[in-house]
Amino acid sequence: MEMLINSKHISTEERMEVTNPYDNSIVDTIPVADEKIVHDAIKSAKNSKNKMTNLSSREIYYRLTEACTELKEQKEDIAKIITKETGKPINGSLYELDRSIETLMFAAEESKRVYGENVPIDAGLGGEGVMAFTKKIPLGVVAAITPFNYPVNLAIHKLAPALAARNTVILKPSKEAPLSGLMLAEILANHFPEGVINTLTGSGKLIGDLLVTNDDINKISFTGSVPIGTHIAKNAGMKKLTLELGGNDPTIVLKDADIEKAVSDIVNGAYLFSGQVCMGVKRVIVERDIIDEFTENLVKQTGKLKVGNPMNKDTDIGPLINTKAVEYVNEVVNDAVSNGANVEIGAKVKNNFYWPTVLTGIKEDMKIVSNETFGPIAPIIEAQDIDEAINIANNSKYGLNAGVFTENIHSALKCVNSIESGSVFVNKASTFRTDNMPFGGFKNSGMGKEGIKYAVEDMCKTKLIGFNLN
Ligand code: NAD
Repeated sequence: MEMLINSKHISTEERMEVTNPYDNSIVDTIPVADEKIVHDAIKSAKNSKNKMTNLSSREIYYRLTEACTELKEQKEDIAKIITKETGKPINGSLYELDRSIETLMFAAEESKRVYGENVPIDAGLGGEGVMAFTKKIPLGVVAAITPFNYPVNLAIHKLAPALAARNTVILKPSKEAPLSGLMLAEILANHFPEGVINTLTGSGKLIGDLLVTNDDINKISFTGSVPIGTHIAKNAGMKKLTLELGGNDPTIVLKDADIEKAVSDIVNGAYLFSGQVCMGVKRVIVERDIIDEFTENLVKQTGKLKVGNPMNKDTDIGPLINTKAVEYVNEVVNDAVSNGANVEIGAKVKNNFYWPTVLTGIKEDMKIVSNETFGPIAPIIEAQDIDEAINIANNSKYGLNAGVFTENIHSALKCVNSIESGSVFVNKASTFRTDNMPFGGFKNSGMGKEGIKYAVEDMCKTKLIGFNLN
């Protein structure tokens, strides 16, 4: 595929291969942008700003709605590309497209609700006789930088609210999985004026650093790992920032939980897309009294998962994104085992596949749970009671989502009030998100919220307008 700059397809002599992690075949190649091309994209987005401010809210709504119709028409094709470039099982890719269609519609709806407010300015000394109100105005140019794991829906969570708030955009997708995001950008570009939607592919570091440090970019909306998010925060200067970063999400199972419900949700939460999900269950914290029964059930359900070709509709577990990712998961599992953890099931490796794995005897300082592990692992940590479970959950530099299973309202309330994370769900694992909810972590998991209404607010600046009526 090619990049899109000022409505023209841009190629380069140097190309990068996009490989299918299932069989290492080449899916396609992408251009490698150099410094000049990055500046061309910034110029295109900057020069197109007034094309967006000239559009009415009504016009934006219809354009986003029409783009949504086109996305629906291309749903199957884009889902297949997600599966080819990421190894995500096809049902998961189709579900990502369903979510993306809904996310785009949320943005279309929100484009009609970009409200300012009446300001009772006469409540302040000197304000008598002055009438004032606020207006939400676009930021200008939004750079959207996305990771490999949800290449379409996470791009929509940035592009669609940016457009709803009348900004122009530059999308920089992950080099591991750029194709589906580029397809999405092409669809959006079909419905907006020339130069409003631009894309860049190639080196994340070169393009990222140039976008982050350029004064013509007004906002960086980034989803990805903590180290790169931290690097961006250091370099961004006065730009607005939204950082949706990594997670190490806990899910607590208390002794009065419905164990069957907890197990079935944790199986989904820990192994969804082979654990390569920011809000995946990364730490399973189980109260001592039920740990044997819980573990036995979890192992039984884990053993039923089908590992195989991600294009098959009955596959639950596909490959990890690349060999480096498999090596990392293998390394942290081996490290845990050499420090006393037990493999209850799984820990098998073949090519880019890592089998779903239940580990017991996990200590909090083991690498596998002290850092984010992006793999299909359910590491079980024992807690003697609810207080210890909460302490373990909070003993993390991350704070994205959390889950707690209990049938006791007092325990539920204690957990939701004490756990330090952007969302806490009772009787649901941490791996839960709808696309209209405010989503974004505490601590190192990031800053700002996505979820269309919240993202649109963050894609605007507020101007106060006053009239002296004296
Ligand atoms: P990554 O941080 O390696 O890459 C993310 C993006 O940053 C890519 O497009 C990459 O090219 C780009 N990049 C690289 N160097 C850059 C630089 N110097 N400046 C700017 N951008 C640069 O992440 P990944 O491996 O693609 O994705 C996995 C990570 O994303 C995990 O940590 C996961 O938890 C996180 N994630 C978070 C959320 C969330 O909403 N909180 C959602 C999905 C994934």
